[in-house]
Amino acid sequence: MSTATKTKPEVKEFTCARCEVTSRWTEGLGAATPPNWVKENGLYYCLVCRRERAIDEAIAKAGDVSTADRAKLRSAAVVDFEIARDPDRTEGEIAKAARASIGAVRKARKRRPS
Ligand SMILES: [Zn+2]
Repeated sequence: MSTATKTKPEVKEFTCARCEVTSRWTEGLGAATPPNWVKENGLYYCLVCRRERAIDEAIAKAGDVSTADRAKLRSAAVVDFEIARDPDRTEGEIAKAARASIGAVRKARKRRPS
């Protein structure tokens, strides 16, 4: 069977709904969105914004907190986000992605129901 008649994959441009960064992605490469992007309610979000939204959500959930607690919530939310995004990575990789310590990743893993 020849694949010569296969239609050329279409390059689409995606715009993040939050920061308006654009990404070109060829449809049909195994995913409907660029790597690490998500589609939510018809809107696309890049990885940076997915992380920021996870932080915002954690802070909103906590309610009225001090600046110091906010910083703690932020880093914890990023660690949780990175674990959820790709749980198969090593603690070292997750720590690097979340810019956190391996100890923080370990603690976050213990918090999560497995
Ligand atoms: Zn974005």
